[in-house]
Amino acid sequence: MTASIAELADAIRKQLDKDESLAREASGDTVVGTPGHWTPAPDGDEWVASDYQGDVELLVALRPGLPRPPQVTSGYWGVVCEDGSDHSDAEGWGLRAQFRHAARQDPATTLARVGRLRTLVTRMLAEPHGLVDDGAGGYDCPRRGTSAACQCGRDERVRAYLALLLPETTET
Ligand SMILES: [Zn+2]
Repeated sequence: MTASIAELADAIRKQLDKDESLAREASGDTVVGTPGHWTPAPDGDEWVASDYQGDVELLVALRPGLPRPPQVTSGYWGVVCEDGSDHSDAEGWGLRAQFRHAARQDPATTLARVGRLRTLVTRMLAEPHGLVDDGAGGYDCPRRGTSAACQCGRDERVRAYLALLLPETTET
């Protein structure tokens, strides 16, 4: 059975809720607001990948005055994860790409993406029904304001776009 537009939107929003929750947890609560209305703290933490002098690290820049993980008591930088590497360790050097990728998934970046996707879903659901092409100038889609079936193609189009935002199998 094909999922309805409402079911697809609900599944997407649950996924976004999960992404938002995990990003908030990873950020050390340096974003503020309520679900769907968050804002990053202006001087919030920022994740970066570093390969300084052979040590590959995923770092979080800890801004002054923000909540800190209990194990981080000093300095402005904390290590999320690291891999010591000398220049002869090809696999160690290979980690740089993974670390850079992880840094690109910075909680603030993820939260910004979640916000954009929420807006995208809202706008897709607000797409109006249009004219049905009958070869004679067209007529209003009977779906407008009723429960009649859409004939203008809007529902099929919105359903297909929403489905693109979901993985084939959604983790619960
Ligand atoms: Zn329609």
